[in-house]
Amino acid sequence: MVNEIKTIGVLTSGGDAPGMNAALRAVVRTGLHYGKKVIGIYNGYKGLLENDMKELTYRDVSGIINRGGTVLKTARCKEFLTPAGVQKAADNARAAGIDALVVLGGDGSFRGALALSQHGFPVVGIPCTIDNDIGCSDYTIGFDTALNTACDAIDKIRDTCSSHDRCSVVEVMGRNAGYLAINVAVATGAEVCLLPEKKFDLTDIMDKIKETTEKGKTHFIVVVAEGIGGIEFIAKTIEKQTGIATRPSNLGYIQRGGSPTVKDRVVASKMGLKAVSLLLEGKTNRVVIYKDTNIVDLDIVEALSLQKDFDNELVDVAEILTY
Ligand code: ADP
Repeated sequence: MVNEIKTIGVLTSGGDAPGMNAALRAVVRTGLHYGKKVIGIYNGYKGLLENDMKELTYRDVSGIINRGGTVLKTARCKEFLTPAGVQKAADNARAAGIDALVVLGGDGSFRGALALSQHGFPVVGIPCTIDNDIGCSDYTIGFDTALNTACDAIDKIRDTCSSHDRCSVVEVMGRNAGYLAINVAVATGAEVCLLPEKKFDLTDIMDKIKETTEKGKTHFIVVVAEGIGGIEFIAKTIEKQTGIATRPSNLGYIQRGGSPTVKDRVVASKMGLKAVSLLLEGKTNRVVIYKDTNIVDLDIVEALSLQKDFDNELVDVAEILTY
């Protein structure tokens, strides 16, 4: 049991994700609802090192539930990667009167939170990343919005592909994980999806394009996960070997922005409330997770040791339904 928490710090760290603002709003308003003081730290761990922080009121988080990005800003901070940096951050947080910190971010940000907890500073993490690549949680805030953005973009690319009888090779984000790619591939009916989790051979792609051409297909979408990359080379190879005009398109950062979907706003609101509730119960060094449609929590050390299974069923769906 930790001492009673009177002041909660909150920061957003690493890659931004739509729904971070909704989670921030939930943290701030839950804290205030229970009579706690909430301090927002700007630019992630960098702000802790630079004492860039301010007390947040109900009005500071008005009108942000529908906004992408993060009003607290985010940053990647090298100095924080050192034990001296972590110690300084913990000292600064204590000096500012912060009793515990809520960290909104991805896997890297959670490792930072773990480091703070190992320096005796209490933390709770909320998983926010469009990549959905955090092992302990079935779902991460921002994933649904990114999926819908990528799906909408590929639908548009498909329109022009079908008009010109072309092939488009589209790179979607996800860092080293293919969760975004496989879900977008299924949702857009992409003929081929290249994933870091599955071995592939470029000749199989040519064979599929040729086979489906014989069945009457005239245009093709090849989804390539960021972890595979090389879309220019893949497009050139397809064009050379099949004779079909092929264009590479990288969807890039449009996938990280935009107004969060209903799902992301609701999950973020629940997770923000849960994070503060944990602190009020004296439960620290936890990560809020989404498990079997429930919002629950897990010890941060255990959370960071978990790996996520890849959804092979979706790989079958993507393959079988696209002939
Ligand atoms: P994300 O949270 O989106 O995965 P990063 O991996 O870039 O993003 O991590 C965000 C920040 O978290 C880093 O810039 C660094 O300050 C901190 N961080 C990442 N890994 C560690 C670690 N092993 N120890 C301490 N801090 C870390």
